[in-house]
Amino acid sequence: MTDFHAAAATADTPIEPALPEGWELVVGLEVHVELDTATKLFCGCANQFGSEPNTNVCPTCLGLPGSLPVMNGRAVELAMILGRALGCTVNRSVMARKNYFYPDMPKDFQTTQYDQPTNVDGRIVLGDGFVVGIERAHIEEDTGKSTHIGGGGRINDALYSLVDYNRAGVPLVEIVSRPDVRTIEHAKAYVEELREILIATGVSDARMEEGSMRVDANVSVRPFGSGELRTRCEIKNINSVRSLGRAIEFEAQRHIDLWTSGDAPHQETRHWDEEGGRTRSGRSKEDADDYRYFQEPDLVPLEPTDETIAAIDAAMPPLPSVRRTALTDATGADPDTVGLLVARGQDGLALDAIAEGVDPDKVVTRLVNDLAVDDWSRVTAPALAALVRMESAGDLSATQAKQVLGDLAEKGGDPAAHAAERGFEAMDTDELETLVDRLIAEHPDEWSRFTAGDDGDRKKMQGFFTGQIMKATQGQADGKAVAQILGRKASG
Ligand code: ZN
Ligand code: MN
Repeated sequence: MTDFHAAAATADTPIEPALPEGWELVVGLEVHVELDTATKLFCGCANQFGSEPNTNVCPTCLGLPGSLPVMNGRAVELAMILGRALGCTVNRSVMARKNYFYPDMPKDFQTTQYDQPTNVDGRIVLGDGFVVGIERAHIEEDTGKSTHIGGGGRINDALYSLVDYNRAGVPLVEIVSRPDVRTIEHAKAYVEELREILIATGVSDARMEEGSMRVDANVSVRPFGSGELRTRCEIKNINSVRSLGRAIEFEAQRHIDLWTSGDAPHQETRHWDEEGGRTRSGRSKEDADDYRYFQEPDLVPLEPTDETIAAIDAAMPPLPSVRRTALTDATGADPDTVGLLVARGQDGLALDAIAEGVDPDKVVTRLVNDLAVDDWSRVTAPALAALVRMESAGDLSATQAKQVLGDLAEKGGDPAAHAAERGFEAMDTDELETLVDRLIAEHPDEWSRFTAGDDGDRKKMQGFFTGQIMKATQGQADGKAVAQILGRKASG
């Protein structure tokens, strides 16, 4: 089978248990993502976040009698692309009705998949090589959104509730992991990796803050190494990667406290309360029987041909793990730096600039430090390469290069032109030397600490003199040249 992941590195660091001595964490993750389609799953209404409430609706997504669903082909294609990106087998699949009543679900059932999901048996390889199995990734529709007014925003004590059906029928894929995760760090890394895969494949914009990616965590604990699966609780309402970590930590400790006091958690859905920093009991968890699943009679099964799958595989863009490997090979940068650039999508820009023969370290430094902006689309690889070339030749100081890169991001164009416009010219060494002499004369105490002090003093005073020089030259001096001159004068 085609594997789009980079070869899994073996994790050489043993995994730290996240819990008190003797306990082991067991986490499975269920992630709902909204697919980036123009229209909803079964009707032609716009799939759009942030519209006026109840404006993207029609008889079908309002569940009015007599309306019929028509499957959105693009949604099915995106679901299959994701399946292949996760290394899943894409099967013949069947839509099913999951019956339950909720005010934001106008049909009183959710059209989803049950025993014959589209994607099964995949995996996500985390940055450190740890592998998390994917049980399934199935297609389903989203519900509408209720807002409870008064009583602290909770349904039980609300004065009244408002329902917005714009989200009803938006196409989702639910990705269900195996309970492989053992640490909070891996839970967070899993969500981040999945998010990058979703963005790289164009399947979803995966914005947790807008709800287009929503994470539920199934948490249980067990005596370390026992291999058993104890009662789990499903935590919902987690809307950031940071909250995910906090929620798992709280819930695991709650379970340990129960077990050690001779009690036991019971299986239920719990909600993460961000302000209170705790989970709260929700409804007790339904079994599959309660949902009375049955095959959806209004939709035909989805049967991808071998050609369809082959075409999806052929068009698969490089995934984040492969891109990280490529950037590491080209730059030798550390994993955090590489991860950051790939997450920002700046790895292609870096590789193209490096291909023009400039210093990879400088390319990486400029991007990581000075291009943390939302819109960097105007920065071309040739312009970035030209900028780095000017910096390497000493025509621009680091401070100046940073400013010129800012100009490139804002206006595009050519770095030499921006440098000229800002009046950046390399300071000549004589000029710099004169300035250093003047500063030494003005600050004799600092200078003697630089020449005669201990290492700490020397470092501090190097910073002091460099700062003074940068101030006097408005950042035009080249830091490296300054260090050289200071060093030379101290030893001579
Ligand atoms: Zn509709
Ligand atoms: Mn679901």
